[in-house]
Amino acid sequence: MAVCDVLVIGAGPGGGSAALHAARAGLSVMIVEADPAVGVPVHCGECLSQLAIDNLDLEIPDEVVALECKGIRVIFPDGTSKLLTEKGYVLEKHLFEQWLTDEAVNTGASLHLSHKVNSMERIYNSNNEFSNWKIEGKGNEFPIECKAVIDASGVAGAASKLLDMGTEVEVIAGFQYEMTDVPNDGYLDFYLWPKYSPHGYVWMIPKKGDRANVGLVTTDKKGAIKYLDRFVEDTYLKGKIIQNPSWRENGTKPRPFGGTIPISGPRKITTGDGLILVGDAAGFTSPLFEGGSHLALWSGREAAKTISEAILEGDLSNRRMQKYVIAWKKKFPPYSKILKGKTSLYDLSDDELSNMARCLPEELGSMSAIDKLWIGLKILFRHPLLYTKGVISVLLSFGYSRAKHFGW
Ligand SMILES: Cc1cc2nc3c(=O)[nH]c(=O)nc-3n(C[C@H](O)[C@H](O)[C@H](O)COP(=O)(O)OP(=O)(O)OC[C@H]3O[C@@H](n4cnc5c(N)ncnc54)[C@H](O)[C@@H]3O)c2cc1C
Repeated sequence: MAVCDVLVIGAGPGGGSAALHAARAGLSVMIVEADPAVGVPVHCGECLSQLAIDNLDLEIPDEVVALECKGIRVIFPDGTSKLLTEKGYVLEKHLFEQWLTDEAVNTGASLHLSHKVNSMERIYNSNNEFSNWKIEGKGNEFPIECKAVIDASGVAGAASKLLDMGTEVEVIAGFQYEMTDVPNDGYLDFYLWPKYSPHGYVWMIPKKGDRANVGLVTTDKKGAIKYLDRFVEDTYLKGKIIQNPSWRENGTKPRPFGGTIPISGPRKITTGDGLILVGDAAGFTSPLFEGGSHLALWSGREAAKTISEAILEGDLSNRRMQKYVIAWKKKFPPYSKILKGKTSLYDLSDDELSNMARCLPEELGSMSAIDKLWIGLKILFRHPLLYTKGVISVLLSFGYSRAKHFGW
């Protein structure tokens, strides 16, 4: 039986970060990844803020960067646009994830591709205290015995399902095309335009060589591609070439790529005896704009820290794991406020959205308390009805979706 201190399930940003930091702490680490390659298929718009890079002390190599960007432009139904200038990167996300996993492997972790966990059993000692795990799955290395598990299995939520932890997350579907000949000025474009993405938004995320990820999230999963096609057809993107991204096999017909994203905030239970959930598996995504890589990278590092200390102390009980819960609750944005603002946002009509937008300054990134008060007064006098529709909570949720609150 393979034996290690920490088993990391999944080699996405959460798993890569957890494995790297657990290996750095001197633990023996195995990463099991269900797919035959790290990072593919890509299921991400691929943007990551400079703040995330700084927060995590990452020194990312040039080859994983698809574009350095200036920030986000939010575009409303009447064409009004506002800038949120905060530096960041568009990544070649599969190369980024491969680089991160390589870093973990170079630090001592072992990586096992095409290894899917399908059963998790806790072993207890004669005092009925948690002792270790026996993990089964598809792949040569199983069964695996380990002291702790970090579940970084993404939206699949392996541990929550296999252990029947009883906490569910709501998800939204996201799809995108890679398009070419798309001009850019260094900003990512986010369109809040309900007609093209009910309960979601459309994005144009530019990459080197006039490429761009053009996609959307919407609660209407079945209609998502239809909405995306309509957006392309009705805008300046009409007639531009849709191609397959470089990680897809040559010769296949160009088609969209994407996946699902948790949007209801963190799961109620993110730890257990010898167990920590990180990233999407824990429900850690920004509920409004659905970024999750920053949160996954941070929570992976924090999980590794908690577990390495707990192993040293010889106490892997759920009680000891609460240090992790305290840490993420202190650090992450107030999810309930974002969710409230999001509900109000999706209640606004096209006209109401545009009216709200016209009361905002050109640059959303550097508003002082006086600017915010001034905006509040403008909305009160010009469009008092917007108050009753919760426009203040909408603006607050925009604020909490910035990079410094782990928004991207
Ligand atoms: C369309 C779309 C666009 C997005 N755009 C952005 C964006 O621009 N910026 C951003 O920050 N976030 C974005 N996100 C969200 C982001 O992709 C995720 O939040 C992030 O990838 C979460 O990382 P993770 O490591 O938790 O999970 P994942 O990246 O999902 O990795 C989980 C890994 O676990 C593996 N796995 C699953 N089950 C098992 C099992 N039983 N055994 C072994 N392995 C298993 C999977 O194969 C996968 O490789 C987007 C998501 C989507 C769908």
